[in-house]
Amino acid sequence: MCDRTQGRLLAGDTLTKGDHSPVTVADFATQAVVAAALTDVLGPLTMVGEEAAAELQEPGNASLRDGVVELVRGERGAGVAPDQVLEWIDLGGADGDDDRYWTLDPIDGTKGFLRGDQYAIALALVEDGEVVLGVLGCPNLPNADGSRGAVFAATDGTCSAWYGGAAAAVPVRVSAPATIAEARFCESVESGHSDHGHAAQIAERLGITAPPYRIDSQCKYGAVARGDASIYLRLPTRADYREKIWDHAAGKFVVEQAGGRVTDVTGAPLDFRHGRTLAHNSGVVATAGSFHDDVVDAVRAVLGI
Ligand code: AMP
Ligand code: MG
Repeated sequence: MCDRTQGRLLAGDTLTKGDHSPVTVADFATQAVVAAALTDVLGPLTMVGEEAAAELQEPGNASLRDGVVELVRGERGAGVAPDQVLEWIDLGGADGDDDRYWTLDPIDGTKGFLRGDQYAIALALVEDGEVVLGVLGCPNLPNADGSRGAVFAATDGTCSAWYGGAAAAVPVRVSAPATIAEARFCESVESGHSDHGHAAQIAERLGITAPPYRIDSQCKYGAVARGDASIYLRLPTRADYREKIWDHAAGKFVVEQAGGRVTDVTGAPLDFRHGRTLAHNSGVVATAGSFHDDVVDAVRAVLGI
């Protein structure tokens, strides 16, 4: 559904939310479809999703709402009522304070999605503040075998991927070069989401000469998990920004179960016990593991923390 919609969006299919970020018909429709599918299998559940139906109910957003309903009907059947679609979206309205909750970013990297680049559908299960399951769908990710699209799934102790729509999964493991200087790091395409200048200083400090691998969304976690890169830097651009849990829960677990490490820029674990944001963390550092502490030391030195 997202794949078919990308590149065919019309003016009325997108709006700018109150926090100035873009959202499209596909963001809302994906949240509805994933919430409905999970409920089919699991019954009532608690979910923290990025989107809220309130945006669709505002006067002036009727054509967007109609577009969302049409997309959801394409997946769930022509008989689905518009109110049912809004209800599915609002299943994602939990506050993240429960002992057990799902968290969903229906389209992570919406700016990449709009550019025709990378984006991800990210779903995780959090129990007692710990991520215990993570799934990343990366429909545009190029694979080593020339195919396109990857799904990463991490459960306790394993990470697997399905490439190019293959029926069989392959195991996913991080890999790192012998020295940090040979490492490749990835970061956001958007300099408003991660400080590119600081990343360049950190790379220089570590002796890294390869150019950054800039890629939208949690595809960066997938890239580290399977060894396309061995470092992911997400460096705060503002002191008051708090990362959203749906932007990291699935990706962090994918990297960890593939053998890597994930912390914030101070080296502290990401803490999913404080509602819809990582309120007690700043930024993210993910690595293939072996030189994580050295990378965090360089990050701290450059950021002066
Ligand atoms: P990426 O594609 O990795 O650049 O990340 C996309 C995500 O960045 C979106 O889902 C937003 O939630 C998030 N985002 C928006 N503003 C900021 C910011 N100032 N710092 C970090 N992340 C942000
Ligand atoms: Mg996101």
